[in-house]
Amino acid sequence: MYASRLKPILRFGILLLSLAACSKSDDTGTGGTTTTLPDVYKKIYGASAVYVEGTMVVIKCDGVPDHKSPYFQGTAWAATKYEAYNGTNPLWNQNPNRIATTNLTFKIPLNPVKSATSQATPLGSIGVSLNGVPFYNQYAGPSQPLTNEINSFDQYNGHPQQMGGYHYHVEPLYLTAQKGKSALMGFLLDGFPVYGPQENGVNVGNNQLDAYHGHNHATADFPNGIYHYHITGQDPYINGSGFYGVPGTVSQ
Ligand SMILES: [Zn+2]
Ligand SMILES: [Zn+2]
Repeated sequence: MYASRLKPILRFGILLLSLAACSKSDDTGTGGTTTTLPDVYKKIYGASAVYVEGTMVVIKCDGVPDHKSPYFQGTAWAATKYEAYNGTNPLWNQNPNRIATTNLTFKIPLNPVKSATSQATPLGSIGVSLNGVPFYNQYAGPSQPLTNEINSFDQYNGHPQQMGGYHYHVEPLYLTAQKGKSALMGFLLDGFPVYGPQENGVNVGNNQLDAYHGHNHATADFPNGIYHYHITGQDPYINGSGFYGVPGTVSQ
């Protein structure tokens, strides 16, 4: 009896502790050694918390976009964030889902490494973009292409799934408009960065990328060179045939 009455209090205590941990932005929680968060991760402005925990970077976000969308219709955000479709797709076809909060916790390697056996990307979140919206892969379902689903992408190229989780399978148009076509867009679960569709003002073609949809050279954020993915205008858009590196985890 006593123990069961105590439990909720303990849980509340743990919640407070973890909230306190989340509000830190640049050191570890429990590991004992403190690793400073590299500046590049601070670009993920949509996260509620970003910190280093051991060998991983922890990124927490709710997946709600900071831009407008027709998918805010009828939601608590509708008054400020609903915007009727004003994109360019004549086949636009709004899906029945509406944007809802998702509790996403990404744990991605602080020092990403190439995987000896590249894993396929799962359905659901495969990475996180700068505004905290997750990236999804090039499939609408198991091995199903996006062909029809593309028509439900809003004017910023995202849409919500059945639970209301908003996501991008292709170029996040709001982010490339705000940050530039060659800017860092986020990270995949394996810790390797994702860049926009251009490099030095020129579109990157799929033929310039490997099977995983990336290549290796210096970038503004990684002057010593790093493997990175590029989002292109053609299938498979963000990732090719799986993670180049060893993936971390996401709970959603
Ligand atoms: Zn989707
Ligand atoms: Zn590149």
